[in-house]
Amino acid sequence: MMILVMKHTATQADIEKTREQLKEWGHETSLAPGEQQTVIGIVGDKRDIAGYALHSLPGVEQVLEVSAPYKVASREFHPVDSIIDVNGVKLGGGNKVVIAGPCSVDTYENLINIATSVKAAGATMLRGGAFKPRTSPYSFQGKGEEGLQMLAEARKETGLPIVTELLSEKDIDLVYQYTDVIQIGARNMQNFSLLKEIGTLGKPVILKNGIASTVKEHLMSAEYVMAGGLRDVIMCLRGTRTYEPAFRNVLDVNLVPYMQERTHLPVIVDPSHAAGTREYVSSLSYAGMAVGADGAIIEVHPCPSCALSDGDQALLPEDFSYLMERINKLGTWDQKAWVKARGDAKL
Ligand code: PEP
Ligand code: MN
Repeated sequence: MMILVMKHTATQADIEKTREQLKEWGHETSLAPGEQQTVIGIVGDKRDIAGYALHSLPGVEQVLEVSAPYKVASREFHPVDSIIDVNGVKLGGGNKVVIAGPCSVDTYENLINIATSVKAAGATMLRGGAFKPRTSPYSFQGKGEEGLQMLAEARKETGLPIVTELLSEKDIDLVYQYTDVIQIGARNMQNFSLLKEIGTLGKPVILKNGIASTVKEHLMSAEYVMAGGLRDVIMCLRGTRTYEPAFRNVLDVNLVPYMQERTHLPVIVDPSHAAGTREYVSSLSYAGMAVGADGAIIEVHPCPSCALSDGDQALLPEDFSYLMERINKLGTWDQKAWVKARGDAKL
C-alpha cells in the first residue's frame, strides 16, 4: 500500500481533490485522520500506481510505502491510536475498558447478578457466550438465541453494552440483532470467509489471537476484517499454547507494547483464558493493565462450580471487585510516552 502524507496546511478541499484524482486513475482510497496530518492510503498494488505524479497532487507532503504486510491496521498508515466507541463507552487512546461476565450465559438470575456486581465494581461492558466453541461436541454448546435475549435484557437493566461470540456465518443475522460487540474467538481467528463478511458489517469486533498464532498472523486477520471497510477492531490477547502444562495458555505480556507499536488498534488482554484457573486471573489482569493494555476481558461467575463452561477460571464477584480496586490504583505503563521521552519518533 502506498500512502500520501498530507501537509499540515492541506485543506479539506485538497484532500477531496487528491482522492478524486486517484479515483479517476482507478484507485480506491482510505483516509486516516491524524493529530496533525491526514494520511490517504491508496488501496492496491504499488506497481499499478508507479508512474503517476503522486507528489504533485494537491496538499501532498510525502509519498511512502507501508512496509508492514498488514496495511490499514498498521501504525504507519494510521499513526494515532484508534478510539472505538461502543454506545458511548470509549476504548483505546488512553480510554481503558474492563469487560466482564460469564463464559456462557446460563440463567437470567446469574446473568443479572453478575452484570450488576461487575458494573458496581467498575466494568463498563458485559460479556457472555450464547454460542460456545467447545472441544467436545457432547459438552454444552450455549443457549443460542435464548442466551442472546438474556444478554439484551441485562443490557436494558444495567446499560452495559454487550459482547458475545459469533461462531459461524450462519448465525450472523441472529447475533447482529442483539449484540453491541462481536467476539471472534481463538478458533475462528483464521476463518477468513467469516472475517471478510464481518468486515462489511457495522459492529465493532474483538478479535482474539489463535491458539498458536503469531502476532503477524493475528494482525493479518485484523487486516482481513478491515479490508471490508470496518475500522473498529479490538485486538485481544487470550494467551498462546506453549509446552508449559501448568497453565491452559500463557499470557505473553511482551506482546502488549509490541503490538501497540505496530498497530493503532486497541489491544486488550484476556487473562481468564490465559490462566485457566482463577488463582492467577487477577494477577495476570493486573500485569496486563500495568504493561499498558487498553483493557481486559474477564470471566466472572457467582457459582463457578455451577457454570456451564470455564468455571475453573471464573472469578467470584468479590474477587473481581478487589481486582478492580487494585487496577484503578495502578499507574499503567505508557509505551508511547516512553518512546517519546527517549527521543525516538517511531511511535
Ligand atoms: C470465550 O471467550 O469464552 C472463549 C471461548 O474464548 P477463546 O476463543 O479465547 O477460547
Ligand atoms: Mn470461556
